[in-house]
Order: sequence, then structure tokens, then C-alpha cells
Amino acid sequence: NNNIVVSRMYKQGEKEKIPIPNPVTTFEQAFRDYPEILEEIAKQGFQHPSPIQSQAWPVLLSGDDLIGIAQTGTGKTLAFLLPALIHIEGQPVPREERMGPSVLVMAPTRELALQIDKEVKKYYYKGIKALCVYGGGNRREQINTLNTGVDVIIATPGRLNDLVEAGHISVKSITYVVLDEADRMLDMGFEPQIRKVLYDIRPDRQTVMTSATWPIGVRRLADSYMINPVQVYVGTLDL
Ligand code: ADP
Ligand code: MG
Repeated sequence: NNNIVVSRMYKQGEKEKIPIPNPVTTFEQAFRDYPEILEEIAKQGFQHPSPIQSQAWPVLLSGDDLIGIAQTGTGKTLAFLLPALIHIEGQPVPREERMGPSVLVMAPTRELALQIDKEVKKYYYKGIKALCVYGGGNRREQINTLNTGVDVIIATPGRLNDLVEAGHISVKSITYVVLDEADRMLDMGFEPQIRKVLYDIRPDRQTVMTSATWPIGVRRLADSYMINPVQVYVGTLDL
């Protein structure tokens, strides 16, 4: 019994209303131009996009910012990940010539970061390279891999900051940012690290946020870092 509420957030006083892309009902509708992705989805045996995926994919493929609010297990990872892979290929500067990663995913814990990393590696798409960095992981190894060039960084905020400050990760080339489980990251006290990293990422990037809840702290993050995001709420609460 899922409620789905889709709306777009506007800054106060903003008058212009921007249309929200229509949801898709099939994987083909979202990814008809990307047979490798469709093949992998078929391999996984998925039948239909989940509600959050149906709504999120057209929004993200159109380049808009997105906030996905839904409980655990609703398919949020692929909701932001598949458009991220397509985003990388769509950038004007060829991948080999970029000076650093194109996509950054921040996640609250090492376990979650590793899960996302595993998911990216399943959808190994046109040789896109991903690296997972987290506290407690082998820093030297992470740096060595960074030096070989990666397209996607999946990171916990602490280790990310550490590697950015030490000059091992340049955030200048990042054009797609995901804050996964933003509410949990705030609960864990990562707000300063998140803000520090986002401050240096180009303002014309695309920004995605997922959260299970919609507390004031998460709203503030959205206000600071997103531009007219589409908000997709999937839930069972009475609204
Ligand atoms: P969330 O991030 O919302 O907690 P996940 O993205 O981790 O959820 O997905 C939960 C599970 O659902 C994973 O095992 C994933 O492979 C699976 N899944 C994702 N999309 C679909 C789909 N469209 N149909 C069936 N299963 C899916
Ligand atoms: Mg998740």
C-alpha cells in the first residue's frame, strides 16, 4: 500500500514552474538506448522498475536534481546509479581526458559504500571504473587505485575528506553527486564533512539525495545544495 507523491521544490519567490518528466513503466522505456544496461537488468531477473525507479530515472536522465525519500529495500541504489553511469558517458570531455572522477557517491557506512560499489561493478558499463574509499580500508591501496584514474568514487565522508585534503582526490571534475541515506549521515555527525566537500564541487553539477525520512537537517542540505529538485516520496504514511 504505497503512496507516491512527486513534486518539485522551488526557492521562495520563484515563479517559473518547471515540468516534471513522466515516470516510466518499463526498463526499456528508461534505457532503450543502453542495451548493456538492459541486458544486466534482465540477468538480475527484475520484472518491473520499483516505484522510486519509475519516477527517478526520467528525472535524472533529464539532468534534474532529485530527492528520493523511501524506506530501505525500495531500490534506491539503482535509481541513482544507472543514470550516473549514463551521465559519465554523456559528458562533453572524453573520459580519458578528465582529470578526476565524474561521479561521487557519499554513504554513511563502510557496509553501505561497499554494497553500492558491488552494484556499480555488476553494471560494468563501457569500462567505467569505480573505487570505494572508507575509513579502515587500506589507504595506500586506495591512493594507488586513485592514481590509475577512476570514474566513480563511493565514499564515507570522513575518509573522503581526508583524501581530498591530502590532494589524492580532485573534486573539480565531479559533475554528479549522490548523498545516499542523507538522514543517517547527518545522524552520524557527517554534516561538516559533507558541506566541506560539496563546497568545492562545481555548482552546475547534478545532485541526488536519498533518505528514509525528511527531517529539518536533510531539508536544509537540500536547500543549500540542490537546484529545483524533484522530490519523490514513496511511503505508507498518511499525508
Ligand atoms: P534501498 O537502497 O532502497 O534500501 P536497494 O537499492 O539496496 O534498496 O535494493 C534492495 C534490493 O532490491 C536489492 O537486492 C536490489 O538488487 C533489488 N532491486 C532493485 N531494483 C529492483 C527491481 N526493479 N526489481 C526487483 N528487485 C530490485
Ligand atoms: Mg540504499
